Amino acid sequence: MEFWLDLNEEQSDLREWVHGFAESVIRPAASEWDEREETPWPVLQEAAKIGLYGFEFLINTWSDTTGLSLPIANEELFWGDGGIGMAISGTSLAVAAIYGSGTPEQLVEWVPQCFGDEADPKVAAFCSTEPEAGSDVGSMRSRAVYQEATDEWVITGQKAYATNGGIADVHVVTASIDPSLGSRGQAAFVVPPGTKGLAATKKLKKLGLRASHTADVFLDEVRVPGSCLLGGKEALDERLARARSGTRNKNSAMRTFELSRPAVGAQAIGIARGAYEYALEYAKNRVQFGRPIIENQAIAFALADMRMEIDAARLLVWRAAWMGRNDKPFTAGEGSMSKLKAGEVAVAVTEKAVQILGGAGYLREHPVERMFRDAKIYTIFEGTSEIQRLVISRAISGMQIR
Ligand SMILES: Cc1cc2nc3c(=O)[nH]c(=O)nc-3n(C[C@H](O)[C@H](O)[C@H](O)COP(=O)(O)OP(=O)(O)OC[C@H]3O[C@@H](n4cnc5c(N)ncnc54)[C@H](O)[C@@H]3O)c2cc1C
Repeated sequence: MEFWLDLNEEQSDLREWVHGFAESVIRPAASEWDEREETPWPVLQEAAKIGLYGFEFLINTWSDTTGLSLPIANEELFWGDGGIGMAISGTSLAVAAIYGSGTPEQLVEWVPQCFGDEADPKVAAFCSTEPEAGSDVGSMRSRAVYQEATDEWVITGQKAYATNGGIADVHVVTASIDPSLGSRGQAAFVVPPGTKGLAATKKLKKLGLRASHTADVFLDEVRVPGSCLLGGKEALDERLARARSGTRNKNSAMRTFELSRPAVGAQAIGIARGAYEYALEYAKNRVQFGRPIIENQAIAFALADMRMEIDAARLLVWRAAWMGRNDKPFTAGEGSMSKLKAGEVAVAVTEKAVQILGGAGYLREHPVERMFRDAKIYTIFEGTSEIQRLVISRAISGMQIR
């Protein structure tokens, strides 16, 4: 049996191509959009023009049977900048929900609308978190009620912290159909552009990823056609009937989360690698006590550890991405492991990079300050570090750890 870790030609080309864009377009714009705290539409448009932002790009990366293309591309994008990286990648959260739960017809209808085109790029939002339902997804209060006479769903509730909330053309929102079933009584809906009743008035101010728009989204009797229920009514009714009869669902939502986590972990690795490379160069050039600071073991060993941790995290991400693409069961929560490790490495590495730059690291003149702020979100969103540990400990013990 063969085993190798070399990238194939397409993967190497992809890495070089995305890196080139990150280096020439994203990096030079990073500080400006972080300060402005706005979506960098011109960068999005550049990415759309070269085919880095759009449906086809996602299809190309998803078609790689090793599963590595998406993590490779994400690492390079976020090496460029976390905030702009998220402005480019945020749409894929909604696309992943449509891909994961939608019918082929829904995929064809809605995914291109999520991206727009190179002349007029659009973004999409995935709205699941609520003020009272963050880690505890099952306690969601937004409700969707079906009106048979008009074949419409009426959705009412409030969503919190949605990436691209309110500035998106397409919003994918989750809501409870039967609250007594917890997360098994929920469904996802496409809210088409311009639908009345959806509003997001206030942009939220953040510590990091400031070029990515975040907002609370309010749903006031939002009416969408029956065809906007992802997966369709028949499949929903069957799913609810199974849940009510107590039948366990083999293809659970947990697997969906495990599948998306390596791609998120790769983003964290990109930020960490950017900070590590910057600190390495700085340490070779900064002279104190008559020698470059890297000639002190305290600094050199810190850099050695940073590099080792980044490489270790990447291997976990690649393993989980490969497992997901090849339908391997995540028996030990390997998807969660990858995101947990990558997020914690990103926080530790960017903090160390600031330390290696000393006072300069604390100033906005150097990118490690921004990278440090950007990295922190990776122990919080897409499941906090504590929730990842919960998933792993339940998987390895087979017990309902709380
Ligand atoms: C910048 C940003 C972008 C986001 N984008 C989106 C988006 O696009 N769509 C979306 O739906 N959501 C989004 N979120 C929301 C994000 O996913 C949630 O913030 C996250 O899931 C945590 O939920 P919470 O904030 O309610 O924290 P809580 O669930 O209230 O957790 C608070 C603390 O308690 C801990 N905790 C909770 N339960 C347990 C437990 N059982 N055991 C141990 N510890 C526990 C948590 O780990 C955490 O440390 C975004 C958030 C941010 C900040």
